[in-house]
Amino acid sequence: MCKKISILGSTGSIGKQALEVIEKLQDKFEIISLAAGSNVQLLNEQIKKFRPKYAYASDKNAIVGANYVTMEEICSNTENDIILVAVSGRIGLKPTITAINNGIDIALANKETLVMAGDIVMNLAKAKGVNILPVDSEHSAIHQCIKDLSMLDKLIITASGGPFLNKSIEDMKNATVEQALAHPRWNMGKKITVDSATLMNKGLEVIEAHHLFNMSYDNIEVVVHPQSIVHSAVEYKDGSVIAQLGLPSMHIPIQYAITYPNRMEGIKSKSFSFSQIARLDFQEPDWNKFKALSMAYEAGRIGGSATVCLNAANEEAVFAFLKGKIKLFDIIDSVEKMMKTHKVVINPTLDEIFEIDNEIRTKTRELF
Ligand code: NDP
Ligand code: MG
Repeated sequence: MCKKISILGSTGSIGKQALEVIEKLQDKFEIISLAAGSNVQLLNEQIKKFRPKYAYASDKNAIVGANYVTMEEICSNTENDIILVAVSGRIGLKPTITAINNGIDIALANKETLVMAGDIVMNLAKAKGVNILPVDSEHSAIHQCIKDLSMLDKLIITASGGPFLNKSIEDMKNATVEQALAHPRWNMGKKITVDSATLMNKGLEVIEAHHLFNMSYDNIEVVVHPQSIVHSAVEYKDGSVIAQLGLPSMHIPIQYAITYPNRMEGIKSKSFSFSQIARLDFQEPDWNKFKALSMAYEAGRIGGSATVCLNAANEEAVFAFLKGKIKLFDIIDSVEKMMKTHKVVINPTLDEIFEIDNEIRTKTRELF
């Protein structure tokens, strides 16, 4: 059977790797639409190669070879069996809701969607019978390990520790943009790479896991594992721990999400060998150095709009850091300031979420 798929964010790190997976599995997929932001040159090359009917880019007139549609229109087209949401930031939320409302399965890379509106998204998906299939490698690992959700005791999420794992707090405080972007294991978009340096990414992933697997924060554990071979694990009530392992590659989780419930042959560069890996290390995160992680747990436990605040303040501060306006630790200070003054709204509506998101972004920008 040929699955009909659309990709939001086809020119990004996840989007490009998804197209590599699809190219390998060509007769299994038909691409209905591709959406990008400003990289129309690459989008047009992708259109030429994959021949989607529809495409979106910020500049509508620059698209060659496909019919222009908005991301909302892409997600309203019930021709799609599945939509891969791989745009970065808050722009992923609305199209995801639209696709769920139209009964289309979601392969979700965009974690901000669940951090901002996890309750709304998961409840809607349940009501519509839509699958939310995780692309994030840790969540894909957990998804692959779960047989019976009700028998789980806890989720164990691994973290590589990022580029500052073995550096001092002082080194980290004075880190340049270049140092923060030098991730030892993964080659990703800039925003998530900075989040991986502060471990905010792991914090966002804890919130993402809470929503995806309906697990309380007390039963989600983070462990630092520098080799990034164990992608995450689950512990069952009978004491059995099941982990998913593999060489670090986003092709695997992307492929598992879009081919689910099947497994297919993948892009495998070499065979896995325990003896070549030789050792796997695990350690508790340094909560002092990586305050972002405890802040994310706290926001998650408070719930409601607290995670909207966390996400919005963090994203704006990361952009300011990338522009050279602030230092790496100012990101954490800014988020802390915003969290302290935010008046939490319990069960916010989608409109309230966007309102709060805008308000926090404006206030965060005023800090710099
Ligand atoms: P990138 O920055 O590499 O890619 C972002 C994509 O979104 C690009 O295609 C970009 O288009 C598109 N985009 C940006 N703004 C707009 C807009 N206004 N309208 C339409 N499209 C837009 O990010 P990543 O691929 O690294 O990450 C994407 C998401 O996946 C993030 O939420 C991230 O947290 C998550 N994720 C990523 C992982 C990874 O390994 N990269 C791992 C796990 C999760 P253009 O470039 O054309 O402007
Ligand atoms: Mg991840």
